[in-house]
Amino acid sequence: MGEKRQTRCVIGGGGPAGIMAGYLLARWGVPVIVLEKHADFFRDFRGDTIHPSTLELMYELGLLDEFLEQPHQEVRELRAVINEQSVPIADFTKLPTHCKFIAFMPQWDFLNFLSTHAKKFPSFQLLMEHEVVDLTFDQQRVTGVRARTPRGDVEIRADLVIGADGRHSIIQARSGLERQEFGVPIDVLWMRISKKQDDPQQSFGFFERGRLLVLLDRGDYWQCGFVIPKGGFDEIKARGLQQLQNDIVSFARFLRDRVAELDDWSKIKLLTVQINRLRDWCRDGLLCIGDSAHAMSPAGGVGINLAIQDAVATANLLAEKLRTDRVSVDDLRKVQARREWPTRVIQAMQVFIHRRVVTGQTSDRKGSLPFLFRLLKWLPVLRQIPARFIGIGPRPEHFHCLRSE
Ligand SMILES: Cc1cc2nc3c(=O)[nH]c(=O)nc-3n(C[C@H](O)[C@H](O)[C@H](O)COP(=O)(O)OP(=O)(O)OC[C@H]3O[C@@H](n4cnc5c(N)ncnc54)[C@H](O)[C@@H]3O)c2cc1C
Repeated sequence: MGEKRQTRCVIGGGGPAGIMAGYLLARWGVPVIVLEKHADFFRDFRGDTIHPSTLELMYELGLLDEFLEQPHQEVRELRAVINEQSVPIADFTKLPTHCKFIAFMPQWDFLNFLSTHAKKFPSFQLLMEHEVVDLTFDQQRVTGVRARTPRGDVEIRADLVIGADGRHSIIQARSGLERQEFGVPIDVLWMRISKKQDDPQQSFGFFERGRLLVLLDRGDYWQCGFVIPKGGFDEIKARGLQQLQNDIVSFARFLRDRVAELDDWSKIKLLTVQINRLRDWCRDGLLCIGDSAHAMSPAGGVGINLAIQDAVATANLLAEKLRTDRVSVDDLRKVQARREWPTRVIQAMQVFIHRRVVTGQTSDRKGSLPFLFRLLKWLPVLRQIPARFIGIGPRPEHFHCLRSE
């Protein structure tokens, strides 16, 4: 084993949960090291949604004005095209938050922004190209992590390890914590198609009898997410690229003149979707948060927000104690006690959506507008319910431990 280091808290994973937790703990004066396995934040598959509740947190941190100077789109009303009819789903304009919109911002910009601010604190370190490969133990207590870097292996010992390494978490796998799986019938094909000036001006979801195409506006291209039945990629490949191109055009006709850009399977990535949750999110010396504790599906586009809310609760409940002392398992359990209920509610909603709305299979139902969506079309006031659920979510967090930058 090569280099050895010691800190108060080491966080595995520099996604929304890890960077936000690192930022907040460092702002409270806790020595913290965040380890990210990639060399940068530029991952295609990262979601792009920054919710009103996250924007509210940026306001509470005093960062909102600067944050909104980053290139982004503001979506005040979420619309979907369902069986060829455009339906308003959620109206964010009445939310009790400073920003009454979802900001669509590439997640790498969000993570760069937050980590740049975090680096202003002397107690914060972000180590890129550090891949956590194992945990270290002293009897039953987790005492740190081992990480692989291009310059050799590193061992980092810490009073607390936070697992924030996403839905394929190595920290979770090594922890021995028990996981419950909730079956998901879908996977997602992820690809880019170029954007033209006269294309529709905002991100979109096209639903059709159980199937879904999502288009995220990334400036000069559309990031496309096409929902397929779980395990169905081989069959789609066997049917050929031309058929996939036709399927995409059948949802979004304006892509007809350039769908042929998808001329090789290497341009189409398979993203596996999971919903699961740890029974216990912690053990002595270790806490899992974000997708590492509860993998979220893209349904509702709420996983990033939930991961950030976990990070805020972690800082609120642990920062002061962690700055001066070790945290006990009972302290760590408080984070789960605070965050498990909202996670259960949202995951139940996602499981429902996968069983009843987006299954990836063409359903036998007629192509008419389902009753729920007709109600949303007829009664504008009802659109405030999904807006609240998506934009703020159950049990939103606010900062308790704030020090200025
Ligand atoms: C196809 C798809 C689309 C989605 N779209 C959206 C969306 O639009 N909006 C939304 O809110 N949610 C979306 N979600 C859900 C959302 O992506 C997650 O819920 C959210 O990213 C969880 O944040 P996190 O910080 O816990 O984990 P992640 O975002 O997964 O971040 C984990 C980080 O840890 C790093 N890492 C992994 N392993 C290691 C390791 N061993 N060592 C060091 N670093 C490591 C990763 O590189 C990554 O940076 C989507 C999910 C899927 C599957």
